[in-house]
Amino acid sequence: MRIDLLTLFPDMCRTVLTESITGRALAKGLFELEIHNFRDYTTDKHNRVDDEPYGGGMGMLLTAQPIYDCIAAVKKLRDEPAHVIYMSPQGKTLTQKRVTELSKLPRLIILCGHYEGVDERVLEETVDEEISMGDYVLTGGELPSLALCDAVLRLVPGVLSSEECFLSESHMNGLLEYPHYTRPAEWMGRRVPEVLLSGHHAMIEKWRREQSVLRTARKRPELLESAELSFTEKIIAGKEKNLSEE
Ligand code: SAM
Repeated sequence: MRIDLLTLFPDMCRTVLTESITGRALAKGLFELEIHNFRDYTTDKHNRVDDEPYGGGMGMLLTAQPIYDCIAAVKKLRDEPAHVIYMSPQGKTLTQKRVTELSKLPRLIILCGHYEGVDERVLEETVDEEISMGDYVLTGGELPSLALCDAVLRLVPGVLSSEECFLSESHMNGLLEYPHYTRPAEWMGRRVPEVLLSGHHAMIEKWRREQSVLRTARKRPELLESAELSFTEKIIAGKEKNLSEE
């Protein structure tokens, strides 16, 4: 997997992605990352990359030329086809399903907008997909792009210690993950569920699956509509959902 991030604030992105799990994976060469400042591609003699919007209105817009030239130059750095993503509050909201699909692509180019956004024509000309972090507006695409990179990169083989780390996680199978506990076995009068101390792996698996179904019914009942549940699980989930609505 190779990611090229296009931004006006490279340090902001580099600082995050070179830390912790993604930072270690990058150092081991498990993925390639290059961060590009599209200001370096402007042909404006004052080094500007923004201008006033036609038709008037508040704020500045990123101009087409530096973004187009940056994307064109970055594409040429490798032979593999690149999927170009624009981070935008107008895109489809990111899901774990889409993250999983994107993690299998060889190459992503991610464009971060800023100010009022980007001249529409360069988006039409270059972008394959718009992705949103949610129905709210941020000042720039850097934070959403970092969230996207983090979510995608943790699925790249070798980045986490084992696939098991993410297979049971929330949203991977359409359900929320079961609750976790660590030492001590009793804290502030609250005891860890006995089954987890039993060492009985089959019982623990059964308990975890049930807890997953129960907490999805309680916290995010709408997810159950697309989750694969057994007949018994559907009954358990239905009861829990009714209880939490009372
Ligand atoms: N004028 C735009 C609109 O109303 O659709 C919003 C522009 S926003 C202030 C500036 C930049 O932040 C956008 O170009 C986009 O790259 C990024 N951005 C803001 N909110 C976002 C979100 N929810 N998801 C992804 N990117 C977002």
